[in-house]
Amino acid sequence: MTARGAAEGAGGTGAAGAIIDRYAGVVFDVDGVLLRLHQPIDGAAESLAALRQRGTAVAFVTNNASRTSAQVADTLHAAGIAADAAQVITSSTAAAQLLEPGTRCLVIGMDGLRTALADRGCETVTEPDEADAVVVGWQIDLHWDDLRRATLAIARGARFLGTNADRSYPAPEGPWPGNGATLAALATATGRQPEIAGKPSPALFRAAAERLPAGPLLMVGDRPETDLDGAAALGWDTALVLTGVTSAIEAAAVRPRPTWVLHDLRALFDDAPLAPRDDVVVRPARATDSQAILELWDQAGMLAYTREPERDIAAMLAADAGAFLVAEVAGEPVGVLMGSNDGRRGWINRLAIAPQHRAQGIGRALVAEAEAVMRAGGLPQANLLVFTDNREAQAFWERLGYTASAPVTLRSKRLGAAPVDAC
Ligand SMILES: [Mg+2]
Repeated sequence: MTARGAAEGAGGTGAAGAIIDRYAGVVFDVDGVLLRLHQPIDGAAESLAALRQRGTAVAFVTNNASRTSAQVADTLHAAGIAADAAQVITSSTAAAQLLEPGTRCLVIGMDGLRTALADRGCETVTEPDEADAVVVGWQIDLHWDDLRRATLAIARGARFLGTNADRSYPAPEGPWPGNGATLAALATATGRQPEIAGKPSPALFRAAAERLPAGPLLMVGDRPETDLDGAAALGWDTALVLTGVTSAIEAAAVRPRPTWVLHDLRALFDDAPLAPRDDVVVRPARATDSQAILELWDQAGMLAYTREPERDIAAMLAADAGAFLVAEVAGEPVGVLMGSNDGRRGWINRLAIAPQHRAQGIGRALVAEAEAVMRAGGLPQANLLVFTDNREAQAFWERLGYTASAPVTLRSKRLGAAPVDAC
């Protein structure tokens, strides 16, 4: 978005209470959502404080198996986020809960896993013949002898359990081998695949749910394939937050689509758009739609920004860029979006929804289809323009993962005698 342009999104927004009002409890991933290298992410501390004030129940989940729940809570505290150890579920905690007390465990892992197993009443053994289970978490001083003993125990029938299957750890210098790499070594050696306790497996999410009141739950994460897919499989709503590993452009391609895409955690307090209707059809615009499109633009106050709308419609239909879209209900056009591209960036213009059909997710459906068309055309980015004083439109686009660039206002310039649109 930039500062100058048409009243985009004016027809696509609508309020149905704050997003957060819909949930009995919220589960937060830690890295990339609350913390980045132990530092709080913008908006995280104030949002968690606001949730605490509202009395919203929260829990924290992390696939990091190396730290104890108390250590994670301390790290959150140090970053200004109030957290008790009992609210923190690590993949080590979840792994321990999958074992019966008294289970004899041959352990690869650090403090976090060893403490969780001891708290569960499991016994740690070192010899392959003594092990009922091999439990594998991240261990940065991993030795070949650890792999040798674990391989022997698994080959002799011990249960094979991994805290998490993360392939790599995002170290400041680049990726380090994650616990998934250790598990792959053991799987290769034994021909057996491990059970996984951490995200996206259900064990960790179920452990979090046990700490929250009954009712609708929301999972907030930055990594769709672990945070969101695991929660969605249990029927939870999901929020993809753009402060971690997923960019706004990548977010548009995430399938299945998250319930919400949040610029940061402050967006939890934004008004929620109503759920999309299921009788909306989004299709390419046709010449026979011209009059309906003019009426939609007129109802949205957009004809003030264009001198020759009929010519624009004809030119877009002739160009056949593929993203000039109409939404229809019962065969009647009720929304329009004019997408184009400059060869590298997609541009979204003149999104308008009929007044009686606003706040029903139709704008969101048009944008999703335009993004899909642009992505299929190899465009890496979608841009649009919004007036700086159009707060409603800005909030709409931010909910869809669009971020504001530095506002710049440019005056339009006439080229020769032909009139040029202001937008
Ligand atoms: Mg994360």
